[in-house]
Amino acid sequence: MHTDAHGNFKNPGWFLFNLPAGTWYLNQGCIVKADKFQPYELFPYPAADHYFEVGETKLICARNPNKATITPVENKIVLDEKLSKIEYQPALHFVIGHEFGHYRCLCEHKCDLISANLMLANGFNPSQIKLSFEHLFINNMERLNFLQSHFGSKNFLR
Ligand SMILES: [Zn+2]
Repeated sequence: MHTDAHGNFKNPGWFLFNLPAGTWYLNQGCIVKADKFQPYELFPYPAADHYFEVGETKLICARNPNKATITPVENKIVLDEKLSKIEYQPALHFVIGHEFGHYRCLCEHKCDLISANLMLANGFNPSQIKLSFEHLFINNMERLNFLQSHFGSKNFLR
């Protein structure tokens, strides 16, 4: 802050702060950090099939014939231990995001879209999402085709 030798503000009404990097704004007297820059438009958010309260979710790594399974009532996700060794790490984010999608949706496709949106909102780019599901669904052409059809939508890539 700019003060004179007596500690009085030189320009009352103007304050300089040493805030962390980012864009900040005042909201009703509070200094608030602006949302992260999000360069990609999200997929249309799928309609919810049901609603489970999202609590503090436990992530358990164990043998699981599915890649992952969520029990929303217990706030528990069981990841297959093979996923801990997955070479392409963004795919792990995709799997966890998909499981979180089951808090709102039953349909696997809807959960894939929710996961893709979560990844975009958290700074992943479309190529990383695409590579993630190609990595995960190499033997599931139906899931792969569904998501790939969305990647061709005009609003998604720019
Ligand atoms: Zn699922």
